[in-house]
Amino acid sequence: MKPAAFDYHSPATIDEAVQLLSELGDDAKIIAGGQSLMPMLNLRLAAFDHLVDLRRIGDLRGIEVRDDSVWIGAGTTHTAIGRSAQIRSNVPLLAEATPLIGHFQIRNRGTIGGSIAHADAAAEYPAVTLALDAEFDAISPRGVRRIAATDFFKGLWGTELAEDEILTGVIVPIRSGRTGYAIEEFARRSGDFAIAGAAVSVRLDADSRVEHCAIALFGLASSVVRVQTVEQSVIGLRADDIEPDGIGVDALASLSSIPADLHGSADYRKRVGSLMVARAWRRAVEGAINDQH
Ligand SMILES: Cc1cc2nc3c(=O)[nH]c(=O)nc-3n(C[C@H](O)[C@H](O)[C@H](O)COP(=O)(O)OP(=O)(O)OC[C@H]3O[C@@H](n4cnc5c(N)ncnc54)[C@H](O)[C@@H]3O)c2cc1C
Repeated sequence: MKPAAFDYHSPATIDEAVQLLSELGDDAKIIAGGQSLMPMLNLRLAAFDHLVDLRRIGDLRGIEVRDDSVWIGAGTTHTAIGRSAQIRSNVPLLAEATPLIGHFQIRNRGTIGGSIAHADAAAEYPAVTLALDAEFDAISPRGVRRIAATDFFKGLWGTELAEDEILTGVIVPIRSGRTGYAIEEFARRSGDFAIAGAAVSVRLDADSRVEHCAIALFGLASSVVRVQTVEQSVIGLRADDIEPDGIGVDALASLSSIPADLHGSADYRKRVGSLMVARAWRRAVEGAINDQH
């Protein structure tokens, strides 16, 4: 199928894009890589009178170390992130997650900003940004604001972004201390969205006690979620004394509801999800123990 007719706009600067969105109002929609939006338009699940394409805006692309964080422009493609040496050494979880997203054609066009704004509950980048305590910069006619990932994702495809707000960048803290990371997911075929997945980061102190940890789940609730009660329950414990399978069971037990669909019942997702958390926890702890940074 083809999408319903729309007017196409291709601003060259962020200011121009902000101005356009403000003038066109609710009838306009941002398009970046088009890898989520175009299928929805083609299937006529959505229709807009105007599409505002961000791809000409150079200021939305790039990867830079800024103080103790890495800034990633919202228009940076998954492929550019996967190939970046800066990302591999400073934010290894993002590098590990990238090949799990779709296929290379999708990664060549899809952008991190599009993935975050689309906020699919089974998407890798939203879960990874949650696990890394990332923040997002957004701009609108009302100005610029920074939003913590933990405040951003709101229920099914919902986010903190207003209709006229453009995500400009993702800010991820650089690894510090004895840290380890891992992402694990189960999908029926390589490139499919995950049926269940977990992204984990763990920081240990000199005595190998958990100083900080984050467990983010994807495909297991109406949006990506952190399981903070479980995280808090292991702070201060020695890593050796924590049973990964127990963390997996506790993480899934803490969810108020687990989705069921053609790909799996809630009970199936609960079992697979527990296993993904346990695997990711085990690998993250191993990484922290062996961390030479
Ligand atoms: C076959 C297939 C398999 C896929 N598999 C996976 C997978 O396994 N894991 C996964 O995570 N994703 C998967 N995807 C989705 C893919 O990663 C998308 O690229 C991504 O979700 C959206 O990025 P985009 O740049 O293409 O955004 P677009 O499709 O252009 O836009 C998506 C949404 O984000 C909004 N948006 C885009 N950029 C901005 C911005 N800067 N500010 C504010 N709003 C913005 C748009 O208005 C739209 O609502 C798959 C897609 C396909 C077609």
